[in-house]
This record gives sequence, structure tokens and C-alpha cells, in this order.
Amino acid sequence: MNISFADELEYLMKQGLFRKMRLIEGGQQEKVVLDGKEVLLFCSNNYLGLASHPLLKNAAVKAVEQYGTSSGASRLISGNMVLHEKLEKRIATFKGMEAALLFNSGYAANTGLIQALAGRGDLIFSDRLNHASIIDGAFLSRARLVRYPHNNIKALERLLEANRTTGRRLIITDGVFSMDGDLAKLPELVSLKKKYGALLVVDDAHGSGVLGRAGRGSCEFLDCQENVDIQMGTFGKAFGSFGSYVAASREIIDYLVNKARSFIFSTSLPPSVLAASLAAVDLVDSEEGAELRNRLASNAEYFRSRLLDAGFDIMGSETQIIPVLVGPADKTMKFAGRLLDKGIFVQGIRPPTIPAGRCRLRCTVMATHGLEDLQRTVKAIVETGKEFEIVR
Ligand code: PMP
Repeated sequence: MNISFADELEYLMKQGLFRKMRLIEGGQQEKVVLDGKEVLLFCSNNYLGLASHPLLKNAAVKAVEQYGTSSGASRLISGNMVLHEKLEKRIATFKGMEAALLFNSGYAANTGLIQALAGRGDLIFSDRLNHASIIDGAFLSRARLVRYPHNNIKALERLLEANRTTGRRLIITDGVFSMDGDLAKLPELVSLKKKYGALLVVDDAHGSGVLGRAGRGSCEFLDCQENVDIQMGTFGKAFGSFGSYVAASREIIDYLVNKARSFIFSTSLPPSVLAASLAAVDLVDSEEGAELRNRLASNAEYFRSRLLDAGFDIMGSETQIIPVLVGPADKTMKFAGRLLDKGIFVQGIRPPTIPAGRCRLRCTVMATHGLEDLQRTVKAIVETGKEFEIVR
């Protein structure tokens, strides 16, 4: 007998796992109007505040005037426009890679990339905490997915030893883990990929624009830019725009143009989005970008150290993504609800996004938060943490 959708929804509700969207009125800034009330925003990936930057907005408006609102088709039909190629060249140079290919989102990039590069008989070694789009790409590829314990290099090596193939091997990792805010052990992964003849793929959705002296991401920050085969990233987070890219050798990019289904079978990004992304890369690569990165790093450092001082488990965060471990789903959502009453918007994160029992508040700090915003939020988290008996 089929279980009805209503029954499943009720089950989610009872488990404290029912999700619903909240409405932001106006634009994306560090303060937003949420369901009619002004709140401090501490759960956005607009890390550098670029989503409301005049340079990006003006670039988008100008592109609409010059090129219109749509590309009208996929790239391989008639939707390959000047701005697509310009942005690909710009992002390839920025990432220090030979070539790049745009995708319509980070989700589409990961599913397309992995489905294209691996197939039956191939092996995909994936960190247990990798983003859902990596897992979905691995399923689409029909290659065998071997998940290794989070950041456990010894366990990964044992798995590489135990799982042999005459086909391809891919090692895939987030550069910055999206729900934990810690970093991949990229230098160690580079050694393993060399030893076992694997391709190393880094999803740098949360590191690009933010980490490294020039903002090139986790590979720059951990000094292994030369040895990572494929870097994927998105324009929807630090770059304040939308869409994504894969940067790699010319050969791999040509291969993806021919094989990545999410690239081939989808209308390409529109001119406004491309122009905003181009302006964002220029900005990230400028003095102003460096200043924003410094401000973000010092805001994140302040926030992490205050929460650690108060006794919270911030799950090894080293970046602007700062989780606060709560545990059970319903308690986490109540915690987030209490913060909202105090005018602070932080999302509670529950399964299936993270493992059961590891529910957390996922706080994200922005470069545009002022000291008062940080102080007010830390104070509210500490007060609520005491009330919920998470800290003393
Ligand atoms: N990879 C990671 C690590 C992510 O966190 C996300 C977004 N949550 C994506 C990929 C998908 O990117 P996009 O939002 O551009 O689809």
C-alpha cells in the first residue's frame, strides 16, 4: 500500500524535520526584514556583502540594456554569448587554471561534472561530509561511491588500497565543509592522489573569494593550487551573484562540454548574472576585496573565540561558517526560534543535511557585520545556550 504524502508530511512534522521557507523582504544585507520584522542576518552565504554592491548591480543593469534578459538556448545551440566566454577566461585566470566552464548552479556543476568524469567500473572516493550535490553526482554517474570518514586520511588510504580498479579513480572533497566550517586536508589528499593515480576534485563553494591572500580559495590558502586537478566553485556565495564554474585543464573542460549533461541540456546563464559575476571577480581581486576578506576573517575570529570561551562546541570551525552544536532536532529548532524572538536570524540544520543527533545552528558571519551586530548575536546565543542547558 502506498503511504500518502499527507502521512509522510505528518511524520516529518512529528520528528521535528518539517521544513518551510521564510520570506525576506527587500535585498540581502546584514540586516533584513523577515516576515515583517527587522532582524540581524546570521545565516547567509553572501559572505562579503557583494549581493548589494553598486558595482555588481550596475553591471547587471548595463548588461540587460546591451544584451537583453535571456541567452535563449543552451551554449551548444545558440546560447553562447560574449559574456559567457569572458567570464570563463576571467575565472580561469583568477583560479590559476588553464580553462573553465560555467554551469547554472553549484548543484548543476557537481552533478554534471561527476556524472561526466566517472562511469561504471570507476571509483569515487568522497568525504562523508561532502555536499549533497556531490553525492547526487556520484549516483548519476553509476560509478561505485566509496565514502571515507570525515578528513580521515589514514582511512582513505586504506580504502584506496582495498578498492582497486582498471578504471578511473576520483577523490572528491569540499574545500571548506559547508555545515562544519572546517577545511579539507588538501596537502595530504594531494599526496594520496599522486600515489594512487587518482584525480583530485575540490568543491570550493565556501572558500572561493574568501580564503587565501588573493581570495582564490582553499587551494591557495593551503598552498596546493598546482596539484589539484579540478576546482569547482559557485558565484552564489562570496561572489554575490549566481551560477557556478569548473576550472581545470583545457582537455577536461573540452571533455565536459561534450559529456556533462547538466551543461549540455540546459539554457545557459543570462547576461545580467554573467555581468554581475564578472564585476564580482574583479572586485574580489581588488584592494577592496582584500579589505573585505580581512574584515570577514577578523569578524569570524571574534565570533568563534567568544563562542568557544562560552563553552560551545563549534565543531572545529576555522572559517566564517560557525556551527553551534545542539544535538536533537526539536531542541535546535526551538533554539533558533528563541534567537529569532531576540531579532537574530540563524538557521537550525537537521537531517538529511547532517547526521541525526548532530543538529546545529549554522551561523555565518559576513564582512559587513559591525562589532555591535556580533556582540548582540553572541550575547543572545550565550543567554539561550544557558537557558537550554547547553552551556553553563
Ligand atoms: N557545493 C557546496 C559545498 C555547497 O555548499 C553548495 C550550496 N549550498 C553547492 C555546492 C551548490 O551550489 P549552488 O548553491 O550554486 O547550487
